[in-house]
Order: sequence, then structure tokens, then C-alpha cells
Amino acid sequence: MGRDFAFDVVIVGAGLVGVSFALILKKKEPDLSILVVESNKLISSGKIAVPDSDIRGIALSRDSKKILQIAGLWTVLEKSATPIESIHVSDKGHPGIARLNRSPDDIDPLGYVVEGRYLRSTLRKNLSQSDIQIWYSTEIIDALIEKDRVRLVTSNTKTDIIAKLMVISDGAYSKTASKLGFCIKSKALGQKAIIANVTLDRKHRGIAYERFTQSGVVAMLPLSTSMGQFKASLVWTRPSECALRLEKATDGLFLDELQAQFGYRNGIFTDVSARASFVITTSFSEEMIRARSVLLGNVAHNLHPVAGQGLNLSLRDAAKLAEAVSLASNANRDFGSVSMLDQYRKDRLHEQQLIAAFTGNLQPLFSSKNFILRLGRNLGLFSLDFVPVLREKFLHFGINGRAF
Ligand SMILES: Cc1cc2nc3c(=O)[nH]c(=O)nc-3n(C[C@H](O)[C@H](O)[C@H](O)COP(=O)(O)OP(=O)(O)OC[C@H]3O[C@@H](n4cnc5c(N)ncnc54)[C@H](O)[C@@H]3O)c2cc1C
Repeated sequence: MGRDFAFDVVIVGAGLVGVSFALILKKKEPDLSILVVESNKLISSGKIAVPDSDIRGIALSRDSKKILQIAGLWTVLEKSATPIESIHVSDKGHPGIARLNRSPDDIDPLGYVVEGRYLRSTLRKNLSQSDIQIWYSTEIIDALIEKDRVRLVTSNTKTDIIAKLMVISDGAYSKTASKLGFCIKSKALGQKAIIANVTLDRKHRGIAYERFTQSGVVAMLPLSTSMGQFKASLVWTRPSECALRLEKATDGLFLDELQAQFGYRNGIFTDVSARASFVITTSFSEEMIRARSVLLGNVAHNLHPVAGQGLNLSLRDAAKLAEAVSLASNANRDFGSVSMLDQYRKDRLHEQQLIAAFTGNLQPLFSSKNFILRLGRNLGLFSLDFVPVLREKFLHFGINGRAF
């Protein structure tokens, strides 16, 4: 029989969401003991994981900024954050263009773009400087509900963890959730996303672009200037059968095809970084909570990457969950109880369902007569998250089934 380790909260998965939640909760409740369990090895120099190759530009909304600010992370992130001053939505082959600008009264821009690897290394660095523990090379292989706690059997056979609450945030292909029998509905969309950074011949002026074409969506986010070069982060979705040709194309051919689809509104594309591509699946968990466990992040809802909303939605979930844990803890109530977790579920489900449904399959946006889909088509997917008043109205529409 191995040794037991006891924590208030155990978070499974040290991705963007798991680590954010750990830091948000720690800021609120410094006395809670928190452990993060990560299956990957620590590839380290000292205590800090070396930066990864995640060159994606992650668009963060104003709400996300606020949440990260409260968690004490924004001051560092802001240094490399590129403000989004306007959002430009267009439709290849159709004249209509929607443009949403930051209003002169706005103190803040519409959102910010931060490179994935910078966001991840900032989160991990803050984690390593806190008293939150992190165990690398560890997985949870079973969870046994006991009175007032859960016993987590780890892949390290000599160690069991005892916790009041387990937060499962090990990503869209969560082994932990599937081992515990959570039912997650996933959908392969027959599309691939190609990701790269593109060099521009002129300044991007803080414009985030979304361009709908017959064969997919092109999203370009403004990045900070690097060594005097102007860059944008590209996510380009294509039907899987067409993507391969682009993945294998020379840089020159790739840029020609991109320019033909996107036009010249963001200048001339002069260079492209190494490209990454992956098959797009979306998923949504039918259950969000169980006694002493809750799903957070991509395991709960894996959204279409072009929507640029997965992390934003998860940060709002994380902030709400941290608040619920904090309130219960301060009132000496059990924060792992089903009743407490169910209240959190009720608070978040509606927004999660609507955003997941709306961004789940972009194809209907091209053909639908449905009001809400046309609204999305015309205003673009980013706008929903980056213009809070639109999200509020969208959610209101979803509740009441009527236009605002
Ligand atoms: C191309 C692209 C662009 C995007 N752009 C945006 C954007 O602009 N704005 C936005 O808001 N969102 C965006 N997103 C979505 C965002 O990246 C995700 O929502 C977010 O990264 C999800 O984080 P996560 O921590 O839930 O999952 P993951 O990042 O998958 O992290 C899961 C972690 O769990 C670990 N793990 C896996 N299995 C186990 C196990 N069994 N035990 C322990 N640990 C385990 C993994 O190693 C990993 O560290 C984008 C996504 C893509 C793909």
C-alpha cells in the first residue's frame, strides 16, 4: 500500500485552462491546497518548462483580460499582447463587409492577441512561483468516491491522492473523463485547419479578419511586430481532401493561394512560417459534473478553432467555478458536493450550449435563413466574444427565441 496525499482541489491537465483555473482559484483562496497533475514530462530548465512551439495567436476578449488581471497575470501578458482595434468580416464573392471598430469612448480595445507559447509559458512560470504543486508524468487511472472526498488512483502505483474536488481539464481527448465514463459527443467536420504566421508588407493596424469563402474560413489575427516585420496569425479551414495540397505546397504557392482567397485587405503576404495542420473535431460533454468532479476546458466543450472562443469561454467557466468554490469554502460548505457543482452547471450551461451550437459547424452559416445564423454570418464569429453587448443580446435571443 502506497502513501496518500491530501489536497483540497486536484486539477488534471496543465493546459491553458487547467493552469489558469489553478491560478485564479489560488488568488481567490490562498489557503486552499491545490495539486495539478500533468501526463507530459517536464521538459525543463530548472523548474520552468521550456517554451513550446505553439505559434498560434490566441485572441482574448475583454472579459478574459479582466479574469487574467484579477489572477495577477495580465501585467506580464500585456507586454506581448497586440490590441484588436477592429474586426473585419467579409464574404468572398459577396459585396457586404461588416466592420466593428473600437468606439472612441472605449478605454480598452476590442480584445488582444497573445501568442500561445507566451501565454503557456507565463502561466507555467506563475504556477512554479506559487505554492500550487504540479506533478508531471502522472495520470489518474481511477476515482473512488468516499464520504466527503474522492480517492484518485494515480499511474504512479505507490501514490493515491485524496481530494475534496477533482477538476478534469485534460483536453478534448480526455482519458480521465472517458475512464470515468463521462459521455462526450464529438463530431468530425471533415475539415482541417492550417495554422501559420504570415509576414505582411505593411502594418496590420490591429485589425482581426474573418473571411468566409465557399471552401472554408480564413481568420487572420494581428501579431506584435517582430524584428521590424509585420505579422499575422493565420487559421485557414479547408475540406480535408483539399488541405493536403496546401500542406505540401511550397511557401510561394501557399501564399499565392492564400492571397487569392483572402485578397489584399491585409497587404501583400511576403513570407510564411512553418505550417501546422490538424483535423477539426468539435465536442460537447453531455455531463458537466458528478459528485466531486467537474469538467473544464476543451473536455467540456471543444469549439471550432476559427471561432476564437474556446479559451475565452473556458476562462469565464473557470472564473465562475473559482467563485463558487470560494463562496462555499468561506461559508464552510462542501465545495465538492453535487448540489454546489450543480449550481455551477446551471449557471454556465446555457452560454456553453449556445456558443457550442453556434460555432459547432460553420457550414450552415453559408446557407441558413435562420436569423441567428445570419447574424453570425454578417457579424462574424469573433464579434460574438469581442463585443460583449452582442454576446449578451445573443444569449438573450437564445433564451427568449426572439430578436432583440
Ligand atoms: C488553431 C486554434 C486556434 C485557437 N484560437 C483561439 C482563440 O483565438 N481564442 C480562444 O479563446 N481560443 C482559441 N482556441 C481554443 C483554445 O486553444 C482551447 O480552448 C484551449 O487551449 C483548451 O485548453 P485546455 O487546457 O482545455 O486543453 P489542452 O490545451 O488540450 O490541455 C490539456 C492538458 O492536459 C494534459 N493531459 C492530457 N491527458 C492527460 C491525462 N490523462 N492526465 C493528465 N494530463 C493530461 C495535456 O498534456 C495538456 O497539458 C484555439 C484553438 C485552436 C486549435
